[in-house]
Amino acid sequence: MTTSPNPDCLFCKIVSGAIPSTRVYEDADVFAFRDIQPAAPTHVLIVPRQHFASIAAMSETDAPLIARLFLTANQIAVSEHIEQRGYRLVVNTGEHGGQSVSHVHVHLLGGRALGWPPG
Ligand code: 5GP
Ligand code: ZN
Repeated sequence: MTTSPNPDCLFCKIVSGAIPSTRVYEDADVFAFRDIQPAAPTHVLIVPRQHFASIAAMSETDAPLIARLFLTANQIAVSEHIEQRGYRLVVNTGEHGGQSVSHVHVHLLGGRALGWPPG
């Protein structure tokens, strides 16, 4: 389910510029910025401008936007020079998924070897 900007949503405020961020990329649909608490040398969050609480709130009609999020992450991996050694794209979802901000986002993590499985 899509909604208009949510006044209580941290990432809606970042997308609108009400809260500052270090922007990495933006276009009409997608906004990307550096994570405030990086878990790796490169840690970028890729979000849709539209508010969706999580990936679970997205549906078939949102498939092109979901693709844009992941393809944008791949582009940023190239611009961050981490595409050759590899990187990880993560979408934490809900309580057990460790989601702390209820606006869907893809984490792009790279620049070091990452452990698996997650704790
Ligand atoms: P989640 O835990 O929901 O998967 O990821 C949320 C991410 O947002 C975390 O990695 C956290 O460090 C990041 N974050 C939280 N608040 C802010 C903020 O105000 N600015 C930025 N740039 N990142 C934030
Ligand atoms: Zn939002």
